Amino acid sequence: VAFDQLGLSSEILRAVADEGYVNPTPIQGQVIPSILAGRDVMASAQTGTGKTAGFTLPLLHRLQPYANASTSPAKHPVRALIMAPTRELAMQIDESVQKYGKYLALRSAVVFGGMSMDPQKEALRGGIEILVATPGRLLDFVEQKMINFCKTEILVLDEADRMLDMGFLPDIRRVMALLPEQRQSLMFSATFSNEIKKLADNLLERPVRIEV
Ligand code: AMP
Repeated sequence: VAFDQLGLSSEILRAVADEGYVNPTPIQGQVIPSILAGRDVMASAQTGTGKTAGFTLPLLHRLQPYANASTSPAKHPVRALIMAPTRELAMQIDESVQKYGKYLALRSAVVFGGMSMDPQKEALRGGIEILVATPGRLLDFVEQKMINFCKTEILVLDEADRMLDMGFLPDIRRVMALLPEQRQSLMFSATFSNEIKKLADNLLERPVRIEV
């Protein structure tokens, strides 16, 4: 399939073309239609397969309709939450969100541990629709009541296996308990241990399973 047959908006296709991508990668060809259809997804994918664009492009598409709603910035609740195990990965995902969403009026922020909370706090105060976060720092901000999940429509767990390896399961559980039940959840993992399967059972509803 070609990118323009996947059902993505022209603003998103324009950003994809700016990157010089000609065709979707195999994982993109599979996950993008499922995510656009509103399904939960459990995908096994290694780094380098194009998985980041695989969830970012349809996520941006699904958030678009309200992009120009004139809500006061400070009141903007997080509409999509993307969790990643490390600061490097979180920053990379946020860059992708910016890149692929450059023709859309959606705002994002990235928060991670190991540095001062102040600049990240400023970004949150400005109002955002998309939040990329590592679990520990995310909970720090939740405790400070800086983040409102009442309108969260989409949850992404990227590199879920690494998050479990790093001991983030309790943090993930705490975050999950704060999210609306009615939401779309996407899980990406390179490997599938029993722990990962258990987490998927808790997190996902009738997921489309994708392996590449
Ligand atoms: P990822 O697996 O998400 O870390 O992506 C790996 C690399 O592939 C990134 O540098 C992307 O910019 C690039 N990429 C993603 N999708 C495509 C595509 N459809 N065509 C060419 N390159 C891509």
